[in-house]
Amino acid sequence: MLARTKSILSDLIAFPTVSVDSNLEMIAYLAQRLEDCGAQVDVMRDPSGRKANLFATLGPMCDGGIVLSGHSDVVPVTDQEWNSDPFEMIERDGCLFGRGTCDMKGFIAASLAMAPHFAAQVKDRPLHFAFTYDEETGCLGATQLVRDLKARGIKPSVALIGEPTDMRIIEGHKGCCEYSTHFQGLEGHGSAPDLGVNAVEMAVRYVARLLELSADLKHKAPDNSPFVPPWTTVNIGALHGGEVHNVIPAKASVDWEMRPVQPEDAAYVKAALKSHCDEVLLPAMRAVYPDASITTQTIGDVVGLIPTEDNEAFQIMSELTGANSADVVAFSTEGGLFQTLGMDAVICGPGSIAQAHKADEFVTVDQLSQCLTMLDKLGVKLAGA
Ligand SMILES: [Zn+2]
Repeated sequence: MLARTKSILSDLIAFPTVSVDSNLEMIAYLAQRLEDCGAQVDVMRDPSGRKANLFATLGPMCDGGIVLSGHSDVVPVTDQEWNSDPFEMIERDGCLFGRGTCDMKGFIAASLAMAPHFAAQVKDRPLHFAFTYDEETGCLGATQLVRDLKARGIKPSVALIGEPTDMRIIEGHKGCCEYSTHFQGLEGHGSAPDLGVNAVEMAVRYVARLLELSADLKHKAPDNSPFVPPWTTVNIGALHGGEVHNVIPAKASVDWEMRPVQPEDAAYVKAALKSHCDEVLLPAMRAVYPDASITTQTIGDVVGLIPTEDNEAFQIMSELTGANSADVVAFSTEGGLFQTLGMDAVICGPGSIAQAHKADEFVTVDQLSQCLTMLDKLGVKLAGA
């Protein structure tokens, strides 16, 4: 099984599925393999038609299934110094090198290698494979997948997200919401501030409000928050605008993000900013220039994975791996999106996040073996279900 996994992984690494590029060839490869073992396979394209999600089912098409979830895309290799071709897997000293080996084609390869076994083992409880596009650029594929599953009335109950955790069970992470807010004012001479609308000034006032809200969020942390820090954080990442000392700038923008520990914090910040814009900033801007505007562009809106008491995904993974505790992590995944479907989700996969996104990314053969052992036990469990 390890040899088969390595061979599939080598094939997957050879698809250069960097997020900006198409993943269709890799999805077609995965679809073929899953069809060959009798799975019912759906390939759902994105609006551009250049990318697709894959959702496949072994066993009956009913609610309550277990989802093995992975993203097909990888981060770019530009400006990274690799010691070998990133899109050709090589094995050295017990490590498999290549872009995506740990994040997260290793898990996909292991799931696929096991698929023929699962096909023979699955009984009343369905096993699904969910392979998505554009995870690295804001979980766009999983957002569409969750929408599609809802529309089709398919409701699995457990999701296992195979992001690299060194095979530890992870039950939570914060959300990651990234925005760019653009201010359109009116240019003018610096000596006559009342005749123009200073976009930089508006951006600064917007940021000032955001910092006040950021301070409020510290007091809103849930008592039992497992995260570090325990509250929802805000970061002002970039502030652009203006040219010279004596010109009123017409344009400015702020790139900012928040990492919510609970969905209501994000809603609180958005509502407070909206009323600040609608009631304070925009009236001031439009009194001088009716076409002035403030627009916020969503770059990524990844919901958090909130730890829960009665998590069947944790119970199953605990049974399969022998671990009896779960942790939280700082990176975000598609797990929270599955949770919005009412599913239980945990993250557990081969490889370390320390190697993800870097030059000479690798997964160890030992980690892949551990993953296969876990999946093997999952097959036994399905056979008894
Ligand atoms: Zn990943």
